[in-house]
Amino acid sequence: MSDEHASLFATATAQFNRGADLVGLSDDLRCIMSQPKNEIIVNFPVLMDDGTYRVFRGYRIQHNNLLGPFKGGMRFSPLVNLDEVKALASWMTWKSALCDIPFGGAKGGITFNPWDHSPGELERIVRRFTHSLSTNIGPDHDIPAPDMGSNAQSMVWMMDTYANSTGASERQNVKRIVTGKTLETGGSPGREKATGQGVVFCLQHWADEVGFDLSSATVAIQGWGNVGSATGRILQVHGAKVLAVSDHAGAIGDSEGIDAFELTDWVQEHGSVKGYPKADAIDPADLWSTDVDILIPAALENQVTSENAGSIKAQVVVEAANGPTTLEAETILTERGIDILPDILVNAGGVVVSYFEWLQNRSAQRWDIDDVDFKLREILWSASDAVVAVRQELGIASRRDAAYAVALRRLEQVYQQRGIFP
Ligand code: NAD
Repeated sequence: MSDEHASLFATATAQFNRGADLVGLSDDLRCIMSQPKNEIIVNFPVLMDDGTYRVFRGYRIQHNNLLGPFKGGMRFSPLVNLDEVKALASWMTWKSALCDIPFGGAKGGITFNPWDHSPGELERIVRRFTHSLSTNIGPDHDIPAPDMGSNAQSMVWMMDTYANSTGASERQNVKRIVTGKTLETGGSPGREKATGQGVVFCLQHWADEVGFDLSSATVAIQGWGNVGSATGRILQVHGAKVLAVSDHAGAIGDSEGIDAFELTDWVQEHGSVKGYPKADAIDPADLWSTDVDILIPAALENQVTSENAGSIKAQVVVEAANGPTTLEAETILTERGIDILPDILVNAGGVVVSYFEWLQNRSAQRWDIDDVDFKLREILWSASDAVVAVRQELGIASRRDAAYAVALRRLEQVYQQRGIFP
């Protein structure tokens, strides 16, 4: 099987085992953390616009809640499956531990294409899914957020459905059942751009460490959704130039640079980068070999593969998406001296600002954007510092392995102090 179709959970497990080996994790803890705690699958009926009912399958995988409530996004895509969601849930556990925020890891989703449905159907699907999950989620138990295919509106429907299923006296108190809501309904300033902002903070830290000038960098990005487009816009503000972009429908390139703000407006109106009139159409497969300094996969998993890793010209691959690099591709990139900034570090901005949103909801406060950005940068730079320190301490090159080592040591310490019940 080509590594393009590799099992995501097998990849996540291999990464976890490498980290566990590095820190000498006991067999017991290895066994406990290598599987999710709970795997919830719900099949639920929804009324379609034509009067028929369709049954949808949804998932919520709760990987670990040692450090705090289960936390992680809800993915809406026809490709959502158990293997994928298990991997994504485990990455949330390591991400929260690495950033030292009091959350565990979870992930969920519905196997369907949100673009195939009217707004009315979409709302009924999201609400019925929330209802089906019932008390498996909760504001101090398991807190969903947006991921691929879902957005702030989906989170508002989830919050409203959950709130209306609780007693009247609790209703105001459960807003934090989801994060990534709109500002008006209790979202945090900066949550929409948080993951992209976090990617840029981590890149700044890396640039400082290796002596790279971000202000004259060239960039190629796969995916111009929430994460890809925010990353592109913020990098442009810092002086970098986006030379190529691809998405589900096509790819574009311009050696003079593509304006990230104008492209965002275009995609908002047309649904894709395809046809953007101010750049040339390119073959999506050529995105990987574009002559740029920084390559940012910000769409799907298993995108940097043994097929294209050999042709990558960038100095660094920045994993804004979850699991974009296969194990085989990682070996090739490492042999070629190309740095990899790992997903569990660089895309953690989303969960960190989700934590801020949860805190704001809990205390009925509204922070301002400068406060959010400042605190986000502090957390991501501390996590980046910890990765650099462990890399030096253990004498290893891989930033991913170092990130796992930091996360696993934190979890191990808590397990050792608390013990395993009963
Ligand atoms: P999104 O739905 O907003 O955007 C997804 C993008 O991927 C779109 O541009 C889409 O066209 C593109 N895409 C889809 N299929 C593709 C294909 N076959 N080839 C090329 N491009 C394709 O999703 P998002 O929230 O930006 O998430 C992107 C990635 O970032 C995912 O891996 C997600 O798990 C990860 N992530 C998201 C967040 C967040 O806060 N949203 C946080 C951390 C990590």
